[in-house]
Formats: sequence, C-alpha cells, structure tokens
Amino acid sequence: MKKSVFITGGSRGIGAACVKRFAEAGWNVAFTYKEQEDAASQLLKDAEALGDGLAVSIRVDLTPSASKDVYEGVAAAIKNAKTYFGIKAFDTVICNAGIGISNLITDMSAEEVEELIGINLTGSILTAKAALPDMLGEKSGNIIIMSSILGRRAGSCEAVYSASKAGLIGFGRSLAAEVGPSGIRVNVIAPGVIDTDMCANFDEETRKILRGETPLDRFGVAEDIAGMALFLSGDDASFITGQVIGIDGGFKI
Ligand code: NDP
Repeated sequence: MKKSVFITGGSRGIGAACVKRFAEAGWNVAFTYKEQEDAASQLLKDAEALGDGLAVSIRVDLTPSASKDVYEGVAAAIKNAKTYFGIKAFDTVICNAGIGISNLITDMSAEEVEELIGINLTGSILTAKAALPDMLGEKSGNIIIMSSILGRRAGSCEAVYSASKAGLIGFGRSLAAEVGPSGIRVNVIAPGVIDTDMCANFDEETRKILRGETPLDRFGVAEDIAGMALFLSGDDASFITGQVIGIDGGFKI
C-alpha cells in the first residue's frame, strides 16, 4: 500500500520542495495552496511526473478573517484527499503553511497580529486536529510541524511571528506526549534562513548579516527541509518523537 502525505502550503517554497521529495519517493501527495493556483497546477503535473503515486491539490485558506470556519475548510480538504487516494488516514501530515510579517509591535495593527497568529499557529493546530481522528483510528501516523528558528531565538521586529512559532513548539511537544501512546509521532522542524519567497524582500545588507550569523555561510534551500521531513516520515525515524529539529546552518543569535 502506498504511503500518503498531506502538506499545507505546498504551492511554493518549503512546502513545494516537500511535495516533490515525497512524490519522488513514491508517496501519494495531497497539498494545499491559497493564492497560487497556477503554481499549484504546475506542481501537480511535476509531482505526477516525478513518481508513481497520485497527486492532488486543494485550495485551503487558513486566514481567520477570510473564512467563517477554518477548521471545516481544512477538515474537508483532508476528507476529499483521503477519498481521492482511497485511504482511511494519512501516514504523514505536514503543517507547513505560514506567513511572515516583520514589524515593530507598536506598528502592527491588531488585525495583523490576529492574522499572523491565526494562520501560523491556529492554522497548524487545526490541521493537526483535523487529521488526528483518522490517525488515532489506525493507531499510526506522523505529524510534522513547521516552526522556525525564531520560535527558539530572539528577533527584533519578529515578536508576533516568534510567538506563533514558539507556540507551535509547545503544541508539537505536548501533542507528542498526548498521542505517542496511540502510535502517532509528532516532531517539529525549526528552519533557519531558507531561500524562499519569504526572504525575497531582504536587501543585500540584511542577507549579508544573516549569512554572517550562519556558520555554514549560506542560506538554506527548501530541499534541506524536505529531506528531513521525508526522513522523519520513514522507518529510520520510528523512535523519534517530541523533538525540535533545527535545520539552520548553525545560526547563532
Ligand atoms: P512561502 O512564502 O514560500 O510559502 C508559503 C506557503 O503557505 C504557500 O504555499 C502559500 O500558499 C501558503 N499560505 C500562505 N498564506 C496562507 C493562508 N492564509 N492560508 C493557507 N495557506 C497559506 O514560505 P516558506 O516556504 O518559506 O515557509 C513555509 C513555512 O516554513 C512557513 O510556516 C514559515 O513560517 C516556515 N519557515 C520559513 C523560513 C524561511 O526562511 N523561508 C524560516 C523558518 C520557518 P500560496 O502560494 O497559494 O499563496
């Protein structure tokens, strides 16, 4: 039986690298997008060409103000993807979708605070919550939560983003304790600076400073994260749960 993965925010960046990596490894891959329908369609074709599994993309918006019921939206996406693959539960769910808003806390609107926490923290919690009943029924499964180095370290103008990502670390570790006895593993990945659209507006000076704080002297690439997600989903990781895994080139701050 083929393994199946559900990835939020799969249309670009880290999520898209995960889509390709899992497809290449022969998994069925379901991924969500919000705005980038064209990118999602192209990625779907790429995923189908890369492996012999099925692939499906589904629009999900985790913005709290955009939908009356974010939970219902993500739960429906999981249900539809399961039906498409003919499975009872996903083997792996990657709670990856997220946004960045960098600003002084005093210059952020209350709406921006709610959006950042809603998409990054609540959105991932609701994704895991929606996937879990099926996993509990199967007594197996693997949840991967995309935090950030800023969930563990300080960053000026990143207080709310940091709060959302630190919240995910707390969530992931406690969830691992809760569902471990039911055969489900939960791990958190904390990427450092990864060269995706999220970093696209960094100026050269900022890029230089960030590289300087990274002993390996480069930004990470999305594939660095995708490789770990696939490893965590495999048998070689069967005794790994409740961990926060930094993939950050040794980032120092
Ligand atoms: P990108 O900006 O490249 O991609 C973000 C993804 O999330 C896209 O697929 C996007 O969909 C989706 N998304 C954005 N907003 C929403 C929303 N409201 N509802 C549903 N989906 C949404 O980001 P990255 O790949 O860089 O980041 C992925 C994750 O990794 C994020 O959680 C981020 O915080 C985390 N991370 C990234 C780091 C980095 O340096 N890049 C460092 C540490 C953590 P669409 O394309 O359709 O808009």
